[in-house]
Amino acid sequence: MARLRKELTSQAPLTPALTSWAEALGDAIGRGMLRALNTGMPVMGSVAPSPGNGAVMAGRRRGRPPKTVAGGPVPMDRRCTVSGCTREQRSKGLCSAHYQAERRRQIATGKPA
Ligand SMILES: [Zn+2]
Repeated sequence: MARLRKELTSQAPLTPALTSWAEALGDAIGRGMLRALNTGMPVMGSVAPSPGNGAVMAGRRRGRPPKTVAGGPVPMDRRCTVSGCTREQRSKGLCSAHYQAERRRQIATGKPA
């Protein structure tokens, strides 16, 4: 009896209906996975999206957040050395924006600091 079952399954011809059904199933699974990926499966360890911190999720900065996120002006001794800039120093006494600008200028002029 067992023998008969094995033979039947391995040689059973795949009917067109079965083939199209299998294809439709594969299609549905593929589409489902794609939709799941598109809607954004929660990344492990990330903050669960909630109405309050949509902005955090959407505009999440890369790298270490500046220390002054907690609010309040940057103390004078840690301010960017560019006059009028109130951002916090990041590198070489400059805030990240001015530092990047400075680097671009150096690359453009080819002059090291
Ligand atoms: Zn600056």
